[in-house]
Amino acid sequence: MHKDDKIKKIQRNNEDFERRYKIMKKTLVVLALAMTVALAGCGSKGASDKSDAIADGVLTVGTNAEFPPFEYVGDDGEPDGFDMALIKAIGEKMGVKVEVENMEFDSLVASIGSKIDVAIAGMTVTDERKNMVDFSDPYYEAVQYVIVPADSTIASASDLEGKTIGVQLGTTGDFIVEDIPDATASQYNKGVDAVNDLINGRVDAVIIDKNPAEVFAEKFGDDVKVIDGADFDFEAEEYAIAMPKGDEALVSAVNQALKDIKEDGTFDELVATYIEQN
Ligand code: GLN
Repeated sequence: MHKDDKIKKIQRNNEDFERRYKIMKKTLVVLALAMTVALAGCGSKGASDKSDAIADGVLTVGTNAEFPPFEYVGDDGEPDGFDMALIKAIGEKMGVKVEVENMEFDSLVASIGSKIDVAIAGMTVTDERKNMVDFSDPYYEAVQYVIVPADSTIASASDLEGKTIGVQLGTTGDFIVEDIPDATASQYNKGVDAVNDLINGRVDAVIIDKNPAEVFAEKFGDDVKVIDGADFDFEAEEYAIAMPKGDEALVSAVNQALKDIKEDGTFDELVATYIEQN
């Protein structure tokens, strides 16, 4: 080939290469952009659909195992009862491990979002608590009962006026006493201690949720009687699981699991095992 022709060919080859190189570069830039958009999409979806509380695969649950049949310390020293079985079934549906922290009832709400992820403790949904935590859908209806010595004449709301009434600290029973004229609340960390003091004559009555009232009263047999809170115009209450305020992903995951457990019959089985046998 002639020398000039050779040079021309090399130039053509170079131009060709540069053209292809530019196309390749453009394609890469477009691909990279597409991937960035796709990844960003995944990222934002993850942030709104997943709860930080369970990102580690563990749901740390606070309870106060002094409230049979919902929670009590089992023979093996671990918290047991309806609520414990319920939250474990919920954890299973959510695909997370459940770890239980037994603590005082009065410190549960304040510990949500720090020491514990959620609380299940026969906890009644109240407006005051709703200022601090979000609740799941309610799972059980309850009412406060009144336990009195077998020979007591207390039978209606006005009979409680001016009386000393045993309650568990920070519970709805405690809040009810605040509204009874001239009544004094004797606050206990454990409901059963209030009932012991009723037997000892230190309090005139105990106000506590229906199911534990029945369990505790059975322990003391003929010495006490339990009276339905409806006779005292106490309002119906609903138990729900308390969660960090604003963690919508966690609330909807827990509610979905609760719904599934109700639909597949697990919930009724737990009621039969833990509540109806008491
Ligand atoms: N249901 C009552 C409340 O929420 C009592 C709960 C309890 O003592 N564990 O205040």
